[in-house]
Amino acid sequence: RARLTLAGFYAAVMAVTILAIGAVAYVVISHSLDDEINSAITATATGVLHDPGRFGSLLASAPPDHGRDGDESGTLGISSDVFFISTDQGGAVIANPRRIDVQHLPLAQLARNAAGGKAWSDVSAGGHRYRIYSTVVTSPQGLFYLHVGRSLDARDSQLRTLAMVFGFGGLAAVVFSAVGGLWLAGRALVPIRTALETQRRFVSDASHELRTPIAVVRANNELLLRHPESTIEANFDQVEAIAGETEHMTRLVEDLLTLARADEGRIAIAPERLDFGALVEEVTRDMGALAEVKGLDLASDCGAGEVNGDPQRLRQLAVILIDNALKYTPAGGRVRVSCRRSGRRVELRVTDTGPGIAPEHQKRIFDRFYRVDVSRARSAGGSGLGLAIAHWIVEAHHGRLLVESVPGKGATFVVRLPARE
Ligand code: ADP
Repeated sequence: RARLTLAGFYAAVMAVTILAIGAVAYVVISHSLDDEINSAITATATGVLHDPGRFGSLLASAPPDHGRDGDESGTLGISSDVFFISTDQGGAVIANPRRIDVQHLPLAQLARNAAGGKAWSDVSAGGHRYRIYSTVVTSPQGLFYLHVGRSLDARDSQLRTLAMVFGFGGLAAVVFSAVGGLWLAGRALVPIRTALETQRRFVSDASHELRTPIAVVRANNELLLRHPESTIEANFDQVEAIAGETEHMTRLVEDLLTLARADEGRIAIAPERLDFGALVEEVTRDMGALAEVKGLDLASDCGAGEVNGDPQRLRQLAVILIDNALKYTPAGGRVRVSCRRSGRRVELRVTDTGPGIAPEHQKRIFDRFYRVDVSRARSAGGSGLGLAIAHWIVEAHHGRLLVESVPGKGATFVVRLPARE
């Protein structure tokens, strides 16, 4: 519907534009053609009237159908040239130097018009149209009528061509713009449709993700309620499961909120001058205990690297990457964190000796809720939002986040941030 409406709108705008341009062009051109015709007629009329000798002799000697200025082309039925005819009071033609076929011309009517003060007339005669200027002439020989005219055929045909060009051209342009509009609207709507689809998937994935912990909490609650008299100690497993799932849900909801607010642009990055190396070093130190519990060797090697960044968000970024490395690397493995300045960037690398990520998954792991191995990620406490948040944080700092990995040989996550000069 939106596509059709947009296409219809394009076509309507095009139709109105062409109609307006066509109407203006038609009026301007027809005026200029009329001006030219009228001034040619007026000039001839003035010339004839102010040349009494010529006019007089015409009246005196010219036979009705053979003028002195006879045209070599013979009878001029259609001519864009100006002609003149004069008639006497009785309506007889007394001068017709260009030998115009007067048979169909309403000369008597024109004479009456002239006598009544209406000088200009457009008349149809013998399938042609003429514009004729008629005037009453008083001469020593008596009262005469002078009719000066010009064919309107050329003018009419030019205006007809113009109307056809605008009509058919306009129709073609409207059809073209409707088809083009349909295509354009289709393309313009693709990102909107994709965004809607992504949002819909996000909501459905989030609901799905919350369903499992809720079900676990509910089931354990029911078990507990069956024996209201028993102690927490006796039901430790259920209470622990509820606590664990509640913790998981809390993290999930926090992550969801972060992403939803990021989408809305409601989370402002508050950049300040900070030593990214020192920040990463600190995060690594804080996560040392977790590595130890899991039997992993975690070490960092961070030089100073000043950036303009939001300390809270960059800390969150380092936590996500180091936590993932610890989560997915089996016991006995190694996790190395390095941070150094390279050119105009500060580069953080988190390398592990875990299972790595196959190339077909490498692009998608930054998508929301995407997990290579869902059951493994879930048992590791992952919801599939960590890397999506990491990606958003890096983008918000005008940096780049990428992964390098040879499956089976571990993975390296690389963050490049613009260094502070
Ligand atoms: P999760 O919360 O599941 O860890 P992430 O968005 O952080 O979600 O990661 C997405 C997926 O990428 C993980 O489920 C996992 O399959 C894969 N992944 C992330 N980090 C690593 C890593 N260091 N080694 C292997 N796989 C990883």
